Amino acid sequence: MYKKMSDKEAVIIGAGWSGLACAVTLAHHGYKVYLLESARQVGGRARKVNFKRFLANQTIDNGQHIMLGAYHATISLFKLIGIKENEFLERHPLELNMYSPENSLIKLKAPSLPAPLHLLLAFSKMKGLNFTARFKIIKMALNLAIIRYQLKQDMSVGELLKNYSQPQEVIAALWEPLCLATMNTPIKYASAQVFLNVLKDSFSKKNTDSDLLFFRHNLSNIFCLPATEFITRHGGQVLCEEKVLGFECSSQNKVLEFIVKTSKHQFKCHNLVIATPAHITDRLLQNINNQPLINKRLANKQKLLKPAHASLHYKYEPICTIYLQYPTSTQLPGRMVGLFNTTAQWAIDRSLTNQPGLIAVIISGPGKHTQMPDKLLANTVHQELCLCISDLPEVLHYQVITEKKATFSCVVNIEYKRPYNDTNIQGLFLAGDYTNTHYPATLEGAIRSGQTAAEKIIARNSFSHFTL
Ligand SMILES: Cc1cc2nc3c(=O)[nH]c(=O)nc-3n(C[C@H](O)[C@H](O)[C@H](O)COP(=O)(O)OP(=O)(O)OC[C@H]3O[C@@H](n4cnc5c(N)ncnc54)[C@H](O)[C@@H]3O)c2cc1C
Repeated sequence: MYKKMSDKEAVIIGAGWSGLACAVTLAHHGYKVYLLESARQVGGRARKVNFKRFLANQTIDNGQHIMLGAYHATISLFKLIGIKENEFLERHPLELNMYSPENSLIKLKAPSLPAPLHLLLAFSKMKGLNFTARFKIIKMALNLAIIRYQLKQDMSVGELLKNYSQPQEVIAALWEPLCLATMNTPIKYASAQVFLNVLKDSFSKKNTDSDLLFFRHNLSNIFCLPATEFITRHGGQVLCEEKVLGFECSSQNKVLEFIVKTSKHQFKCHNLVIATPAHITDRLLQNINNQPLINKRLANKQKLLKPAHASLHYKYEPICTIYLQYPTSTQLPGRMVGLFNTTAQWAIDRSLTNQPGLIAVIISGPGKHTQMPDKLLANTVHQELCLCISDLPEVLHYQVITEKKATFSCVVNIEYKRPYNDTNIQGLFLAGDYTNTHYPATLEGAIRSGQTAAEKIIARNSFSHFTL
């Protein structure tokens, strides 16, 4: 049996943050949405999971997530669905405390001054670096502001840092950790332009844009469940364990119709959003591959710059989160500490999520750690924390979560490869962190993409009503 739909209805495949954002935006504009998710729960890569080895009802996140003050689309969507910032997020003015096994501590703290002064002052007062190093950071920051964070030609972050003569210790203690944290891609091949897009948004507008935002609850309770409630309250349906197997499109009275087939149902619709990761989107589009997916704007750009097609074929980078449970009295010296010249990169104190003694250690990007057995990896990062910060008690329990395809690899010239939300097929839209958001794979990128796909549907339908 088909579920047949009107123009004010839409089917969205995939209930990650981009699919949820798309569904919420459409529901808010009076659309009835059907959000189809193959997994048992919504949230995709940003969802809660059980902490298997500890308490039966203890939940952790699929990977430790952090947000920036510059994530405006995410913060306003939270507001729309009734999430109160103070209740759900803890905001800290930018502060980085970077520890290394050589006992060096590099500290950066942004004062409460207007941007970008706050940052220039923070760089000039950075502890643990000599005058020349601080001067070179400030010079680079000023030069980037002069060129408005826009490169004539993309290059790797490594090349950019070399062009601005950044000393090795500054790269190791500041730029490399920041690049990995924001782009999950090593500096030697990460896109400098995408990195600058993030720096521009975080550093050059309002001083609160560089704030670090920590979650007070797990990711599902923060966003996925309230978003689901919002959608259903507005007449939509969120269907889990509803794997989409494929879809077809046909023309009825000159209007394209899509028939979406899941393991349980079939849906007929005029508005279809595919909000699955790029490699799955590619598979779902195989039936209609005779139609060029990319839109003209992108094709033109590519002719000028690169022969490659806008593509759904990306390399991926892993993220590893190691949860270490210590006795409940154990605390880190701050909500988040950075480590450099170590396997571990960041450690977050989960006491904020009401999990005292639980430390989440993050390792972004590739490395030898991906080959280590869980026990060895947990022990390695524990030893590093002891060496860099202070002696910690024995680990009581641990859990290692490795997401092999955590994010697309944000390589040089990636911007010319990423598809826009609209396609050459009328009524078919794409959403997901990999689309052309100008951001790396982030929650903000996913939310922006989902909202843009929704706005395109709304614009298309208002236009067709207008012309009738
Ligand atoms: C470990 C880790 C740590 C991260 N840390 C951060 C961070 O600190 N800050 C930050 O901003 N970002 C971070 N990210 C990135 C962020 O989580 C992602 O960019 C974002 O969640 C992507 O959302 P999405 O909707 O684009 O894709 P996804 O979350 O992948 O959603 C796609 C959905 O489609 C569903 N699906 C797939 N196939 C089908 C099908 N056939 N039928 C129906 N449904 C289907 C999937 O089950 C999934 O729910 C991190 C990611 C990981 C993995």
